[in-house]
Amino acid sequence: MRERLQELKSEALEKIKHSSNLKELNDLRVSYLGKKGPITEVLRGMGKLSAEERPKIGALANAIRESISEVITEKRSELEKAAVQKKLEAETIDVTLPGRPVKRGSRHPLTKMIEEVEDLFIGMGYKVAEGPEVEIDYYNFEALNLPKGHPARDMQDSFYITEDLLMRTHTSPVQARTMEKHKGKGPVKIICPGKVYRRDNDDATHSHQFTQIEGLVVDENITMADLKGTLEVFAKKIFGEDREIRLRPSFFPFTEPSVEMDISCKICGGEGCRVCKQTGWIEILGAGMVHPNVLRMAGFDPEKYTGFAFGMGPERIAMLKYGIDDIRHFYTNDIRFLQQFSVQE
Ligand SMILES: [Zn+2]
Repeated sequence: MRERLQELKSEALEKIKHSSNLKELNDLRVSYLGKKGPITEVLRGMGKLSAEERPKIGALANAIRESISEVITEKRSELEKAAVQKKLEAETIDVTLPGRPVKRGSRHPLTKMIEEVEDLFIGMGYKVAEGPEVEIDYYNFEALNLPKGHPARDMQDSFYITEDLLMRTHTSPVQARTMEKHKGKGPVKIICPGKVYRRDNDDATHSHQFTQIEGLVVDENITMADLKGTLEVFAKKIFGEDREIRLRPSFFPFTEPSVEMDISCKICGGEGCRVCKQTGWIEILGAGMVHPNVLRMAGFDPEKYTGFAFGMGPERIAMLKYGIDDIRHFYTNDIRFLQQFSVQE
């Protein structure tokens, strides 16, 4: 019996030594140490042994079991290490491979245009002011010298929500609100960028939703010369130092006098071409001296304070600056269009 046990031990150790994976090793453990294994089998014959021999064989069998168990544990950790090693080797990363290029997004051309104008005016001491896009009639019209019944308030032009609530048709209500906050005391120096809404049929130059940037300066001794100087700086910074500006008389309810500003056509240099409709000039924005009624409604004394205001469409400016022929490109988000503005910033 002793020999049989020793034989089983060396047979088991040999097999364990040569086992090549964890499953095989586990099978060996079950077969040698389990209840149905050969060792248990041998011990069943213990009844035939003398009382003196029995504990000795029992002790031997236990010792053999233990040493098989120990060897299995050792072998298992060896196999596990080998498996990890193999996995590491299989997953080696070649750091010398060239990387895959990451696609960079870009800011929307309209956002960039607005930020460029904002930066310019912030540099001249303006603050950026914002207001609600859903506006009450008072700020959108009445406070801007557009009393009830004025043609510019026509239902055709505005998206009304209730009789007194509408999608703002311009960013001018921000001016009215800002002036009101100043409680009749200057100086006010703001630009108001934002979305505006009008009931227009969309085409190459019209959109029912577009953006505006308006500027407002109110203080003592503000004159038309300040307005002209400001607009000239704006035109040259945005369109180029070689551009000339021209002011033409115009009409807006909230300014008096009112002007429209043209810049000289870059394409033809003033000779006249298709872009400038043969005039040599391109219309850019509307402006004027703040109407005394507007000042008065916001609590300013028009005898003491004067101001100027201007308003422009960033779409139009971007279209002229970048040669974009359809305003709808800004809103349809065609990636091919947007990617052209994906320059390194
Ligand atoms: Zn031209």
